[in-house]
Amino acid sequence: MKKLNDLVRPNIRSLKPYSSARNEFHGEASVFLDANENPYNTAYNRYPDPMQGELKKRISELKDIAPEHIFTGNGSDEAIDLVIRAFCEPGVDNIVTITPSYGMYEVAAATNNVGCVKVNLEPGFRLNADAVLNAAGEHTKAIYLCSPNNPTGNLLSREEIYRILKYFQGLVVVDEAYIDFAATPSFIRGLLSFPNLIVFQTLSKAWGAAGIRLGMAFASSEIIAILNKIKYPYNISRPAQQCALEVLSREACMKKQLEEILRERTQVETALEQLPFVKQVYPSDANFILVRVEDAQATYNYLVEKQIIVRNRHSIALCEGCIRITIGTPEENNLLLQALKNYYSLGIRKENNR
Ligand SMILES: *Cc1c(COP(=O)(O)O)cnc(C)c1O
Repeated sequence: MKKLNDLVRPNIRSLKPYSSARNEFHGEASVFLDANENPYNTAYNRYPDPMQGELKKRISELKDIAPEHIFTGNGSDEAIDLVIRAFCEPGVDNIVTITPSYGMYEVAAATNNVGCVKVNLEPGFRLNADAVLNAAGEHTKAIYLCSPNNPTGNLLSREEIYRILKYFQGLVVVDEAYIDFAATPSFIRGLLSFPNLIVFQTLSKAWGAAGIRLGMAFASSEIIAILNKIKYPYNISRPAQQCALEVLSREACMKKQLEEILRERTQVETALEQLPFVKQVYPSDANFILVRVEDAQATYNYLVEKQIIVRNRHSIALCEGCIRITIGTPEENNLLLQALKNYYSLGIRKENNR
């Protein structure tokens, strides 16, 4: 890896961060006249902890990693953006990512006037490390990978990711939004061996708390310090910090829901495979399934008519004819499968009437 100081944008390297009232004060106090808050107590009259100390302590226990390796953001979206803003010079630098994958990497790059080079996955949506490494140039500051990948649902090969971590001189982001659904360990342990690794996780999926907006980045303390330097001072609201702590205290409940979702995933996969207009059900390590059907747009439209919303991925490269289906409750999944069966019989009837 290049020196972090050479990777970070010069203006960020020399930036003196905003110092908030609550950043400057340490110790015991009972009278707070430092932040121009309204003194009358409600649940919200005080600014939240800018560094989310209590929350990071809990995440630290849960993930078995020291708090200085943890950044918490307003969703993973914040971390996706901050890495680009900290390291990529607009109009000069770029990121490399894979396709098909999560659309936010490209959007965050474009928002910052940073290039985004996309490398096609191989058949079976497999990652080819050499193709990704070859796409990275002198101005590539970060490679964004997503495993399990969205919208394909599969884990990327660990060996290929390790190859990229080993040979790429810049940063490697591994977005693990769906890792709890997969039967493999997180890359967080890889932080010990790879100073260029950044792992993203989130409370939005398995933890069932998308509404809170809480994303996590795990990396070397040096990388975390850079992200902290440029984040909004109070990026996680007080209610969000409180809710996140509450959500994280219910690990057993999360695990139970997780098992139910995985059981349902198998059920839905099996049922989908029996539908004649389903051409392929891609294996999933996540809480959704990518399915190739005969006519994605028509299938999508029919489901919308039935008030069932899935994600049409037809226009995404290598996903022609595909829809992405999130695993819901057993009742919701049954409604979906029943609607798809009706859709098929409707098609047969139309054929016969011709
Ligand atoms: C859903 C998802 C996220 C989560 O984003 P949040 O901003 O934390 O809600 C991150 N990455 C991928 C690939 C996702 O699909």
